Amino acid sequence: MNKRETKVYKQMLMALRGRLRGDVSAMADAALHKTRSEAGGDLSSMPIHMADVGTDNFEQEFTLSLMESEEVTLAQIEAALERIEDGAYGLCLECEGRIPKTRLNAIPFTPHCVKCASKLQGNGRPTPK
Ligand SMILES: [Zn+2]
Repeated sequence: MNKRETKVYKQMLMALRGRLRGDVSAMADAALHKTRSEAGGDLSSMPIHMADVGTDNFEQEFTLSLMESEEVTLAQIEAALERIEDGAYGLCLECEGRIPKTRLNAIPFTPHCVKCASKLQGNGRPTPK
């Protein structure tokens, strides 16, 4: 994943984090809706179109995640932002495989690929080998 791509996910994560915290909704809105014209600075060369990254699915999955636990989601967002800084974003924590972009577009903060996530969440605990 190149820098330009991770930057887009970073924006998504920061917007989500803002929305979850509820204290910076204006900022989240700015990240989601006002990109090129008002963001300025280093964002000027990076148009973000949420439509390009599957907004509908994104919103849907996000709502589902919210229902699970806001705190867990927030922690996952923070961890994902750290992985972006470390250059490890998009890799599954469990199997170290690449997480498909379609999944990242739906759940940008996910630490696991589909396979590992279902394995981990299927019975509430990792399956012993
Ligand atoms: Zn995995």
